[in-house]
Amino acid sequence: MTGVWGRNKAADLSPAGRPPSVEEADGEAAANRRHRIVIVGGGFGGLSAAKALRHEPVDVTLIDRHNYHLFQPLLYQVATGGLSPGDVASPLRWILRRQANTQVLLGEVIDLDVNSREVILMDRRIRYDTLILAAGAGNSYFGHAAWRALAPGLKDLEDAGEVRNRIFCAFEAAEKEVDENARREWLSFVVVGAGPTGVELAGALAEIARDTLRGHFRTIEPGEASIQLVDLAPAVLPAFPRDLSGKAEAALVELGVRSRLGVAVKAIDERGVVVRSSLGDVRIPARTVLWAAGIEASPLGRLLEQRAGAELARGGRVVVAPDCSLPGRREIFVIGDMAACRDAGGNQLPGLAPVAMQQGHHVGRLIAGRLRGEAGGPFRYVDKGTLATIGRNRAVAVLGKLRLSGFAAWITWLFVHLLYLVGFQNRVLVLIQWGFHYVTYNRKARLIVAAGSTAAAKQRLQECCGAVDQAADSGPARARSTTSG
Ligand SMILES: Cc1cc2nc3c(=O)[nH]c(=O)nc-3n(C[C@H](O)[C@H](O)[C@H](O)COP(=O)(O)OP(=O)(O)OC[C@H]3O[C@@H](n4cnc5c(N)ncnc54)[C@H](O)[C@@H]3O)c2cc1C
Repeated sequence: MTGVWGRNKAADLSPAGRPPSVEEADGEAAANRRHRIVIVGGGFGGLSAAKALRHEPVDVTLIDRHNYHLFQPLLYQVATGGLSPGDVASPLRWILRRQANTQVLLGEVIDLDVNSREVILMDRRIRYDTLILAAGAGNSYFGHAAWRALAPGLKDLEDAGEVRNRIFCAFEAAEKEVDENARREWLSFVVVGAGPTGVELAGALAEIARDTLRGHFRTIEPGEASIQLVDLAPAVLPAFPRDLSGKAEAALVELGVRSRLGVAVKAIDERGVVVRSSLGDVRIPARTVLWAAGIEASPLGRLLEQRAGAELARGGRVVVAPDCSLPGRREIFVIGDMAACRDAGGNQLPGLAPVAMQQGHHVGRLIAGRLRGEAGGPFRYVDKGTLATIGRNRAVAVLGKLRLSGFAAWITWLFVHLLYLVGFQNRVLVLIQWGFHYVTYNRKARLIVAAGSTAAAKQRLQECCGAVDQAADSGPARARSTTSG
């Protein structure tokens, strides 16, 4: 996950020297105010909670460190040049423009004061009567922090830009490379993690190599690229039923993706990955390694552990009561990827958009009910199905008792994703783009753009594409961009 995480700075905010809260700054008379609900995070959970409160006599403040809501399920399309960032993200202020009781604030929450009931940003404190934490999750490298720079994950738009740069730069570097072995390394890709995101990425990579870039280069044949999917699990899409998981693997084989399953990643460096299998350690040479192996809840969960004694489950998720409130703190709710919430059968709910959305709706309605004196009940998840796409025409889907694969599943996947994409304009644009690259195999957003990249990412661009000049680090204005293919 990117973004400044200024936890230490938060600790410096003493009560005496602290920035003013919104109320202090505005001089609002506390006696006349309405119930104040602060929502941290404008993702699937937070946005859904805000919307559930739209007709209530409350004041909602939605805080996000980005000014947009991101539709993460289509992020891999941005990372592989199929869609542009604006197709999968909408400004929060625009989404909530007609919701008069809600104010959107751009800012990063860096600390919480649960006794004075305030969330703390860099420049102010904001008081709440009820707090909804919906700050999502980031990539987890299982304790190997150094792997983050070597194998970018896919969690936000910055990540998608970084992954896209790496993919298309690798083909550019291969085109220029004269040494055969080095060229093969540039044309080798490893995706770590065979869950839905890894499978989507590997499938899209194979399509780029086989179809999109066919005939665009003079010294390399992109279709000869090696794409390997590695995972400790014994099957791809391990959360799916066995038959669908097998079909997904067969579809990957058809696309030319090699799956290495049941192997643990032991090391990652600039030139590849070392995996440990029953046969011993094996090195897979590859200049592009992408990470889709694990997530960990927002660090706000750990803060809640320190500040309010919250219990944390695996992946740093906050253990919540059946109604999604924090045990012992009924004015705090934790939802979505941050929460460890169990269904009626005692199973922890997965980190999926529908879970976050339904929890957001539930919590919004529960708070409104409480203000009317109602008790409120537990959260019940309605599982409408799970889908994963493997590439053009290929997907798997479990919809209740119905199991689909191939084209039928892919069409279902496509329409479900369009349906949930925020904003009519986005839906139309994405449908047009998909129609376009369905017919032409083209991915027109395959731009290599250095502006906004980290210094390390720019250095890599420099190395493989020569796309950034020496002074690029001094500012985005000096960075050049190129179009690949
Ligand atoms: C690549 C990818 C593909 C996925 N595909 C699917 C799929 O196909 N189907 C599916 O159901 N699910 C999918 N998911 C999972 C799904 O996106 C998540 O389960 C869902 O986004 C969780 O919603 P949330 O509200 O908890 O968090 P998010 O939607 O992640 O929202 C969290 C928000 O909090 C903000 N934030 C974080 N920290 C702070 C802070 N300190 N201060 C202020 N703001 C903060 C972030 O900017 C963000 O807007 C995918 C996830 C990824 C990464």
